[in-house]
Amino acid sequence: MSDITTAADDPQHDEIKVTIRAPIMALSRASTDFRECPDPVLFGYPESSLEMMTLEDFHQFVYRWFERAVAAGMARCFVCNKVLDLGPEKPWDALFVTTQWYCWLLAHFDCKRYLNRDLKGRNPFEVTPVPPEFFDLRVQ
Ligand SMILES: [Zn+2]
Repeated sequence: MSDITTAADDPQHDEIKVTIRAPIMALSRASTDFRECPDPVLFGYPESSLEMMTLEDFHQFVYRWFERAVAAGMARCFVCNKVLDLGPEKPWDALFVTTQWYCWLLAHFDCKRYLNRDLKGRNPFEVTPVPPEFFDLRVQ
């Protein structure tokens, strides 16, 4: 996701600045529930293997973070806004959205098909993500 702004107030340096924003995570669709992407090192991921981390590894890492958030009762379905749980009745999934913005979010299996409708017209720059909660992500 790139945010292009022109420095129009300085005609001498009329350059285009491109800011790359890291993917963010949504615990729900509420604007206060967006989190910055966690740094794997802070969660016990060995620094030496960071270079070998693939996108798939990173998805796994984020998924584990989401699992802890769900276990703590902090996460809601992005579509129906119900609190998620780890029980078998209402399974959910973590989805990586790359169309409107780069964002991980959670939705029930049954709600996924409505996701595009809910993402439409949302501006990723209207939310200000805050640092993620710290969860112990070591395999238990
Ligand atoms: Zn749902």
